Amino acid sequence: MAWTKVRAMINSYFMDSAEKNNVWKAFPKVELHRHLEGTFNIETLFRIAKKNKLDVPEDIASFKQAFQFPREAPPDFHLFLSKFKNTWYRSLEDVYDIVYESVKTFKNDNLFYVELRFNPEHFALYNDFDRAEVTNLIIDAGNKAALETGLKITYIISFNRGQFEQDYFISLYNKLLALGRPEIVGVDLAGDESNYPVKQFSRLFNAITSDARWKATIHAGEVTPPSEIWEALKLGASRIGHGTSSIQDPKLPPCLAERGIVLEQCITSNHQTGSWPDEQTHPLGVLYRMGTPVTINSDDPSIQNTELSDDYAKAERYFSFVQEDFIKLNFTAIEGCFLPEKEKERLKAEYRQALDGFKAGL
Ligand SMILES: [Zn+2]
Repeated sequence: MAWTKVRAMINSYFMDSAEKNNVWKAFPKVELHRHLEGTFNIETLFRIAKKNKLDVPEDIASFKQAFQFPREAPPDFHLFLSKFKNTWYRSLEDVYDIVYESVKTFKNDNLFYVELRFNPEHFALYNDFDRAEVTNLIIDAGNKAALETGLKITYIISFNRGQFEQDYFISLYNKLLALGRPEIVGVDLAGDESNYPVKQFSRLFNAITSDARWKATIHAGEVTPPSEIWEALKLGASRIGHGTSSIQDPKLPPCLAERGIVLEQCITSNHQTGSWPDEQTHPLGVLYRMGTPVTINSDDPSIQNTELSDDYAKAERYFSFVQEDFIKLNFTAIEGCFLPEKEKERLKAEYRQALDGFKAGL
């Protein structure tokens, strides 16, 4: 074992958990799987809800309780889903404010680069806003917040299975592609995996892969068997959201490693939704040590009442990860990000600098 690893373990042993959490908070993090709709700044949401005279609790503490999944509650998939609402907004200004003020908080947890995914329908459906206009607005608001805080950001358009038929998604995809915004780097398929198998979206993904403008990531193997991950790979997914069931198929992890398919894993989210209720036996640690390209992500931190650094602290506690492991995981995330190769190389160099800054501050 390398001396640095031993020293890190000794240091880690003598730190209390609050100190450790502060260390992971300060650690520069690359995140590939975070839903904008699950990462709202709650104070802003409360202000918008009050302004729009929505039926919400009178005080912010009760509002938080109603909005968030109780931190220590047992897993409950339906309770988790019930926290996502799309009826907050009454104007495009509301959408701008919630995006801008939410992205502004990302640097508090020292995110270095984020591929932020959002479902334009979440923001547009209730008021029937123009989907292209709302998409432009979200990107502008996110970019402004990122620029002001020194965060690097790109975007993934997320389609929610079960919300619309495939043909609607294809026309929306074409409409958003025509915006020509270089900040959009990929497409995601989210939502109810069990009732809407990946196969039902084959024409959408054929269009995405043949256009070759945006990459694809698909939520698969979160609550479904490994067969759904194989199907997602057949449709051209470059990354898999969650993919926890990949551990059940001995052929899958080596295939993911060989093809460089990154798993976007989320320990807290999987616990709260019940997709992998026991955090301590979450397969992330085993998959990592098997050489599978895994990454640590938050998924929906405001709903979960957590931050990405909480999942880092859990990975340290449950899988005995040390700083070198987290550095490796972040380079895996950069390798798997949807930026063009040249930009990826630049990002790696900048990330090395950020790490030097972090180490100097220890
Ligand atoms: Zn997700």
